Amino acid sequence: MTFWGPDFEQLQQVDPEIAGVVTDELARLRGGLQLIASENFTSPAVLAALGSTLSNKYAEGYPGKRYYGGCEVVDVAEQIGIDRAKQLFEADHANLQPHSGASANIAVYGAFLQPGDTVLAMSLPHGGHLTHGTKVSFSGKWFNAVHYGVAQGREDIDYDQMRDLAREHKPKMIIAGGSAIPRLIDFAAFRAVADEVGAVFMVDAAHFIGLVAGKAIPSPVPYADVVTFTTHKVLRGPRGGAFVCKAEHAAKLDKAVFPMMQGGPLMHAVAAKAVNFKECMSPEYQAYTRQVIANAQALTEALAAEGMRPVTGGTDTHLALLDLQGIGVSGKDAEFRCDRAGIVLNKNAIPYDPQPASIASGVRVGTPSVTTQGMGEGDMKEIGSLIGRAVRDEDGSAAEEVRAGVQALVEAHPAYGRPEQVRAQSASTADDNPQPS
Ligand SMILES: *Cc1c(COP(=O)(O)O)cnc(C)c1O
Repeated sequence: MTFWGPDFEQLQQVDPEIAGVVTDELARLRGGLQLIASENFTSPAVLAALGSTLSNKYAEGYPGKRYYGGCEVVDVAEQIGIDRAKQLFEADHANLQPHSGASANIAVYGAFLQPGDTVLAMSLPHGGHLTHGTKVSFSGKWFNAVHYGVAQGREDIDYDQMRDLAREHKPKMIIAGGSAIPRLIDFAAFRAVADEVGAVFMVDAAHFIGLVAGKAIPSPVPYADVVTFTTHKVLRGPRGGAFVCKAEHAAKLDKAVFPMMQGGPLMHAVAAKAVNFKECMSPEYQAYTRQVIANAQALTEALAAEGMRPVTGGTDTHLALLDLQGIGVSGKDAEFRCDRAGIVLNKNAIPYDPQPASIASGVRVGTPSVTTQGMGEGDMKEIGSLIGRAVRDEDGSAAEEVRAGVQALVEAHPAYGRPEQVRAQSASTADDNPQPS
């Protein structure tokens, strides 16, 4: 049996321009600190499945019930993936076909709501997501979205406000989750409100499902009707979406993915999700997720020592939101100044932000990528002090010095192994390329 591809030399021959982009991007990833909270470095095994001929197969439908012939082989991959997801998340049912987190959310709206129905979700500027009813998204254009937020001062989800809004507006669906929530979510509180008003309870676990998979934080699965997620954030799988749900909703939700919202599934991505779930069952992955949180907490402390105020006072997860008003630097400037020094993070609105979102008073940082590289709490302390220097560096005079500090860290913990190892691997036949964990 032979495995065809991925053969990088063929890409170099056929399309040197795109081959150059691929190598430049690897160099960029290796050359700086990647602190975007929604990114990670997926494994060589996942990349191999993604770069496989499974990409060719049309497999509309589900295992054993396809609209095309010749699906008996890809059926095996999808069924293994579904079974692993059910086991990993202790769920009744799983669907791995959503092309992305947004696609998974669209399917849930399609399954449970009619246009014009009311949905209650976390407001975007308080940490929610575009697909949770913002005006620029289908979710806010076609549905009547009502938003809860965080209480001023305490900055944690305002559960009283959420309950009051649910009683007043009687939403058909309540959504918990978002993209900038550093704290654990009280799923039982949401479930109780959903039951009281007769709403479907959806958890969008895109950001934190990887921590759930590693058993580092409590799971929403026992509480929610459906849990949607991405597979490429802390989870460390291929770029894509998925959901798990209660048995009673399985048929309806499956139909909402296909044929309602999508066509043929990306079978190479479905197979890569299966590989990722297998990796997530290991003790090493569980240890990784605990380290992700320990690192986020160490980094948050280090940034607080630099005068950057952690929103909610800290973090229980892989990410932190920092309010920079105390040091008089906007989120936009902080992002630019860090980037100039080789530190990649994003500006982010903070709750009750006086600035428009394009400027923002905060930044968001996350530790999934640096933890995959093998960095620990001591390194986070160093990163905190480098960020502290970078954000104050108005004229760029310190950028070179900060970049040298970044360089030392990433050379000690290279992404995708040491560059010389990887070169040796691509020059010869397959050798093991250890993924730092
Ligand atoms: C990332 C994210 C999504 C969207 O995922 P995509 O794969 O980019 O579509 C949805 N919801 C939340 C809360 C997210 O953080």
